[in-house]
Amino acid sequence: MPAKTNRFPCRETERSTTLVNEPSAEANTNEPSAAAPTRLKFWGVRGSIATPGTDTVYYGGNTSCVEVRVGSEIIVLDAGTGIRRLGLALEEEFKDQPMRLSVLITHTHWDHIQGFPFFLPAYNPKNIVTIYGFKGARQGLESTLSSQMENPYFPISMQQMPGNICIQEVQELNFQVNGVPIQAQFVSHPGLCTGYRLFTPGGSIVYIPDIELFHRLRARWIRDTDVHTRSERQSDPEEDRQIIDFIRDAEVVILDSQYSATEYEEHKGWGHSCVEDTVAFALHANVKRLYLFHHDPDHNDAAITSMVERAKEMVVNRRAPLIVEAAREGIELVLPAK
Ligand SMILES: [Zn+2]
Ligand SMILES: [Zn+2]
Repeated sequence: MPAKTNRFPCRETERSTTLVNEPSAEANTNEPSAAAPTRLKFWGVRGSIATPGTDTVYYGGNTSCVEVRVGSEIIVLDAGTGIRRLGLALEEEFKDQPMRLSVLITHTHWDHIQGFPFFLPAYNPKNIVTIYGFKGARQGLESTLSSQMENPYFPISMQQMPGNICIQEVQELNFQVNGVPIQAQFVSHPGLCTGYRLFTPGGSIVYIPDIELFHRLRARWIRDTDVHTRSERQSDPEEDRQIIDFIRDAEVVILDSQYSATEYEEHKGWGHSCVEDTVAFALHANVKRLYLFHHDPDHNDAAITSMVERAKEMVVNRRAPLIVEAAREGIELVLPAK
């Protein structure tokens, strides 16, 4: 059987994880400036499947995609259907100028990759689009991205995309994307799935769209989902303590909050968390701002708003300074450099 080859290799100048950052295009190839603010914008916040409709218009129906700008560096977190409108916005912004951007994929479930065939910048040969993932995810990513564009499903193959696409295999949990330090964490979710922590001049941004938090302890904690004492926390499974360490003291955490605690009981093992657990973890880890993310496709705007109210009630009960809201398409956060 022939060895598998990477059909989307990166040129040496694009291998930013090796910290070789020679400019390979004229535009946006500057190192992140320590003085520049970091910006974050939500383009897709929905989990599982896109849900357009009048009752989801406030929070939005597109699946996972978050844009982070660290200075001029563009980092895209996941390629759900939200990436289509991001692509249109980038085309409008850059016009004829080439752009360099990086896409970090957490895993290859449909709701995290399905928008890529509709990402216009990948069709412009002037641009450099680097897709990052770990070995397992990356191999799955290459074949999955390609296969979702095969003839029975899509009119243009990935090989025919004229943009300069490369797939960069990440070898270490700590790496860099064009000068931006990134930490990865494998998380509890069916298949191989990662979360990412971006260290920016405006503080850390943690993105974990899909995770099932401490589900092994749900049965014990279901009667008291608001507050967990430190001694209880110390009996958490090792994987759960790793997540607390991973998000600790972050400026922004974007975290899977697909269910309510009641709904979770019907979805144990599906790979997602409930808002009560998400908030409890953020409180324990001293997070500054939490965005509830990966909204359930069966939740309309009113349902998500009531989950936010529930989350805020937990924070008030703890007299904690945590800011919590639901991620919503189109909202943008600016983090001044510290
Ligand atoms: Zn998902
Ligand atoms: Zn998933």
